[in-house]
Amino acid sequence: MQASPLSKLSLEGREFFIKRDDLFDPFLSGNKYRKLHTLLHTPQNKYKKIISYGGTQSNAMLAIAAMCKQKGWVFEYYTKPVSSVQKEQTFGNFYQALLLGMEHIELDASLYKEYIASLALLNDAHTYIIDQGGADASAREGLEVLAQEIQAQDCGMKSLATPSGTGTTALFLALSLPEYTVYTTPCVGDVDYLKEQMSALAKIPSNLIILAPKKKYHFAKLYPEFLEIYQKTKKAGIEFDLLYAPAMWLALLEKTQEKILYIHSGGVSGNESMLKRYSQKFSR
Ligand SMILES: *Cc1c(COP(=O)(O)O)cnc(C)c1O
Repeated sequence: MQASPLSKLSLEGREFFIKRDDLFDPFLSGNKYRKLHTLLHTPQNKYKKIISYGGTQSNAMLAIAAMCKQKGWVFEYYTKPVSSVQKEQTFGNFYQALLLGMEHIELDASLYKEYIASLALLNDAHTYIIDQGGADASAREGLEVLAQEIQAQDCGMKSLATPSGTGTTALFLALSLPEYTVYTTPCVGDVDYLKEQMSALAKIPSNLIILAPKKKYHFAKLYPEFLEIYQKTKKAGIEFDLLYAPAMWLALLEKTQEKILYIHSGGVSGNESMLKRYSQKFSR
């Protein structure tokens, strides 16, 4: 496997380096690519089926669908009921994942929690279950590969940044790179919730700094300042996702001063549907 390249980005008078994990593949990229490293390197005949569950526009879902297509594995994905509008859409992560062969199973909202819990009891050596968003100890290996690339490419930065959902990426990166400061910010829930999620995987190391957002942002909601920073970075030469990256960039610009290597976490495939929502909401 080839290391992802580094790019420079000038933003608000500052220079950043960007680790271009967005460039691996249109659907299987960013930290989802890193988290799936172990499975991607698993012999094809070890599994027949991968099961996961969660949101219907999730980047993890799309990445797993692309992996399963590559591997020839069946991919079963469980969600709560999906709106008819979404089912008819011919763009977005859900649509793309179905094109890649994902088998979608809708669970009644009242049964969802119990059913998902029961998946863990499934005892089939040819089936692998990936927890929501890929928050899984098996993600560690792929993030160690990323850490080794960062060390080998030594660009002179001593600080890294990447946004958090489950916090798996930022946590394992910080554990693999104790000589770096790793900044992150919570994009799903608040700082305490993120710490809780991380602590379930490993002890949070002292080189991991969680920057609190200036205000409470709700995941997948639309904020003018998110669109604005998205447009600024795009104009400066690199497109980032609209769910996670904006909060990270805003926090970095507000709360840090040093030179930083930003790990692009991918997710650009979801922008088309997000931009449609933004133009519906703000362009009237
Ligand atoms: C999934 C995702 C994240 C969050 O990753 P975690 O490891 O769950 O914290 C960040 N950015 C993008 C674009 C993602 O798709």
